[in-house]
Amino acid sequence: YPSTVTKQTKMKQYIGNGCVVELPAIVESKHSLIESKIGFQENENKDDAFFVFDLGDIVHKYANWVHRLPRVKPFYAVKCNDDHAVLKILADLGASFDCASKAEIQKILNLDVDPSRIIYANPCKQTSFIKYSASKNVRTMTFDNEAELYKIKTVFPSARLVLRILPPSDFKVQCELGMKFGCHPKKASNLLSIAKSLGLDVVGVSFHVGSGCEDAQAFAVAIEKARDVFDLACNLGFNMELLDIGGGYPGHDTGNGAVTFQEMADVINTSLEKYFPEADGVKVIAEPGRYFAASALSLAVNVIAKRVVSRDRKGKDNLPEQSPGASDEPAMMYYINDGVYGSFNCLLYDHAAVTTSPVQEQDTDLNYTSSIWGPTCDGLDCILEECQLPELGIGDWLYFDNMGAYTVAAGSTFNGMPRPRNFYYCQADIWYRLYPETACKVERSMKTVPQMKAGRQLLETADPDIEKHGHSPIETCL
Ligand code: PLP
Repeated sequence: YPSTVTKQTKMKQYIGNGCVVELPAIVESKHSLIESKIGFQENENKDDAFFVFDLGDIVHKYANWVHRLPRVKPFYAVKCNDDHAVLKILADLGASFDCASKAEIQKILNLDVDPSRIIYANPCKQTSFIKYSASKNVRTMTFDNEAELYKIKTVFPSARLVLRILPPSDFKVQCELGMKFGCHPKKASNLLSIAKSLGLDVVGVSFHVGSGCEDAQAFAVAIEKARDVFDLACNLGFNMELLDIGGGYPGHDTGNGAVTFQEMADVINTSLEKYFPEADGVKVIAEPGRYFAASALSLAVNVIAKRVVSRDRKGKDNLPEQSPGASDEPAMMYYINDGVYGSFNCLLYDHAAVTTSPVQEQDTDLNYTSSIWGPTCDGLDCILEECQLPELGIGDWLYFDNMGAYTVAAGSTFNGMPRPRNFYYCQADIWYRLYPETACKVERSMKTVPQMKAGRQLLETADPDIEKHGHSPIETCL
């Protein structure tokens, strides 16, 4: 695959934790990058499944967030995708973080993020994790039940508490959270009184409308309810200063009439203006996960095995006589090297739906009914029960876009199946806008993009981390 991309992918930057980011001058398409990585792996005699991370996509998403929701500070939900590069880019962009556990807090603090940029947004926390958060001065945390208040009183009485309320339940969401978390607004008064009697410091209200929310009005209703609870708390004498509007934003525009981020942002801005006008000085934050991570990752998988069956027998080779009228047309079963125990755990946990296409251009319009299966020995490991694909051979590649949210984070190595490799890239002009100090004097491959040179500082030396990890400064630039 000697594509233009491989020729241009000359510059690299090491960002710690084993992540090397390639900085192509121009990225023709994610597809061409996948092709170049297949070629790269072939040279290494490898056929591993792999992710390509477009870190520039995260930068665009961040800029879009700031543009559309200027009042709402994003606290990225680490659980969604805790890959080092994703967290590092977001930290360097200025994002804050929603952590659910001690390990997530550690990860973020290791990036030199100030503890005030973390919300411990898990209403049911392990006591030792609360102690850890106290020891690290991570003070803001959510609660939604009485027992949590007593726990916090014992181990971290000076915590800044945020009451998580139940979101409205009459809006469609991909993953509902209300059955597990959230205090009913009608019970908020009681809970707040207990917090008051314990001398705890309640500073805000949060909610999560549900992940993959399909109706922007869910935010309008939830913000109105949050206002009621805010007023209750103010009347009890709490100094309420924080509204946390949670997660639930779309990860990509599907273009099929589904709610867009812009529509959601418009509804949120209108509701904030109505119920939390800027002049009141309430700080508004959110906990987006999917929004930042989903579209940044594409997954390429190798067809490792194949079975041709009769279409209406769907892979059951030993079926008894077919029913009359059933089709004997061939149908394909493809086995690929990632599955529901790996990155496609999103099918189970995130109620995701995925689509796929072949990487290689096909010279036929003939499609076959096909099913796609993961590599483990479990019959549950089915990725697509039925899709239309041209005939593929062993060793061919398929790719799946929008695979960054709730995929890698929960993948296992069940059956000894390795997790996919990671390849990181970021279009060079985006990178150098974010890290002007990493630009260096070797610019041969950047001549085609003269505007990138403007405003860029040219330095001889590179990140000191590189020395530690054995990459010389010159490798950073070439
Ligand atoms: N905040 C909390 C407390 C969550 O549980 C989740 C997801 O489950 C998120 C934020 C992120 O949600 P999303 O990825 O839908 O933005």
